[in-house]
Amino acid sequence: MRIVVVSDIHSNITALETVLAAAGRYDALWCLGDTIGYGPAPNQCIAAMMQHANVAISGNHDLACLGKIDLNDFNPDARKANIWNGKQLTAAHRAWLEELPPLQQIDHQFTIVHASPREPVWEYLLTPTQALANFPLFHTQVCLIGHSHVQMGFCLSPDGRCERFIPNHGDVLRLRDADRYFLNPGSVGQPRDQDPRAAYMIVDTLVGTVCFQRVEYDIAQTQHQMHLVDLPTALIRRLDLGM
Ligand code: ZN
Repeated sequence: MRIVVVSDIHSNITALETVLAAAGRYDALWCLGDTIGYGPAPNQCIAAMMQHANVAISGNHDLACLGKIDLNDFNPDARKANIWNGKQLTAAHRAWLEELPPLQQIDHQFTIVHASPREPVWEYLLTPTQALANFPLFHTQVCLIGHSHVQMGFCLSPDGRCERFIPNHGDVLRLRDADRYFLNPGSVGQPRDQDPRAAYMIVDTLVGTVCFQRVEYDIAQTQHQMHLVDLPTALIRRLDLGM
């Protein structure tokens, strides 16, 4: 099965459509949360996930836009964008988002969670120490995470060693049966690893590989859409920088 994994789309429909076109044929689409917030097209992004995603979970921005977590937990720009995003939602799109869990075990091999098993909505899982603390908290070989907007992974060997790796575009990871993994596809709509290209991941369960991908999209188009609805300037500018 060829599975496209996306996360942190953040209402960036231009980036999402570019990713889905670049990904080619797939058997399943998994969404790791933060479909909305920050960007200019929340309804279009949710509609695309309702149509294409086989499984989806919620992230901290999704919950903030729904009014389910305190907006004061966000900086002023993120808060303003979340309030705007929440106001745009149609009743059907709001209802779909409200049903999503923050964590889901998909099968014997894969768990998906927005942030981390320890703190499904909030923890930025960035270090091997954090990964080591989180490996005992899920039951499958692989846990797919988003939230940090950094494309990366952690591998836990049977001897207890945990290594972090930062992939390049096109890198292929071969899953070894004895090892366990955290894998982050990066962010579709607002990358923060100094690479402004949209990030995603393709899992091939038949051959046991994970391919990390980046694709250029029309950043100026997203920025123009953000400008039209008066979203904060800093959020518009950061898309150029991948920050
Ligand atoms: Zn996010």
